Amino acid sequence: MILVTGGAGYIGSHINKMLAQKGYETVIFDNLVYGHPEAVQWGTLEIGDLADTGRLNEIFEKYEIEAVFHFAAYAYVGESVAKPSKYYNNNVANTLHLLDAMRRYQVKHLVFSSTCATYGVPEKMPITEDMEQKPINPYGASKRMIERILADYHKAYGLNYCCLRYFNAAGADPDGRIGESHNPETHLIPLILAAAAGDRDSVKVFGTDYPTRDGSCIRDYIHVTDLADAHLRAMDYLKKCGESTCMNLGNCIGNSVLEVIEAAREITGKEIPAVLDKRRAGDPPTLVGSAEKAKECLGWEPRYGDIRVILEHAWKWYCNKKY
Ligand code: UDP
Repeated sequence: MILVTGGAGYIGSHINKMLAQKGYETVIFDNLVYGHPEAVQWGTLEIGDLADTGRLNEIFEKYEIEAVFHFAAYAYVGESVAKPSKYYNNNVANTLHLLDAMRRYQVKHLVFSSTCATYGVPEKMPITEDMEQKPINPYGASKRMIERILADYHKAYGLNYCCLRYFNAAGADPDGRIGESHNPETHLIPLILAAAAGDRDSVKVFGTDYPTRDGSCIRDYIHVTDLADAHLRAMDYLKKCGESTCMNLGNCIGNSVLEVIEAAREITGKEIPAVLDKRRAGDPPTLVGSAEKAKECLGWEPRYGDIRVILEHAWKWYCNKKY
């Protein structure tokens, strides 16, 4: 049995689906604060919070868990600046509860959802794993702290881990059953598609004076199904005694905000009004990741690297959203 914390969320639900497709039995542990019960179409949903150690013990007693995928976390950068206590408690303290439950029940393998936000504002691109991590907001800092805790738990208690540092997760399950749905929505692609669908008047471009080719921010958008594939490979890697480590997951392709909007106009055939706006606090100009390490260690290769394919799948989901 595989435990997926936060498996009712955007990324966790795609990993859960792929695990089920590959024949794994899964238990999804989610407090449903941001997760959607409708996204849990595979495996067993157990509602609960990582802060509740009694409930965690129940889960580890009830199921024979062989590995854990840990997605449960808050992930709004802006909110993390305003409410660091919420982020450090939920992301860091609650992860300790999970890790200690794993120790108690001798579960040795953990695939952890980390982020390129742990790097802060890097000096060169593409970002490689050996570059210094200097997060600039509590969200990124909370994930960085967990990476450190995992390294210490590995040394002291033999926990095996693989931290996957995602760049910008995007797109949706190609068959349209699950996809991205946040409330509130703050991410670029769903907001662009809302404007395309007429659910919003326009999309804002946060910053037009960055030192980039068109002045808007550049990000590395990675398809959520490619992320799912890498996660399953990370679990196999740990089972085969792969070294506990951290890896980037990105396409090494940078698309600017203006380029993504233009590509979305082509894919949707809609006008998509864009309003040029000021910079959003905490946004580095460019984040593009090298995933050479993941390719080498996991034999992973993204299938849906083209931003147009990412947008096509996201649009298909948006037009038939079930939650
Ligand atoms: N962005 C934007 N308008 C929006 C939302 C986001 O211009 O309404 C920009 C944002 O400044 C960033 C990029 O789009 O450069 C991706 O932002 P998102 O919030 O999707 O992901 P993040 O990079 O924060 O993880």
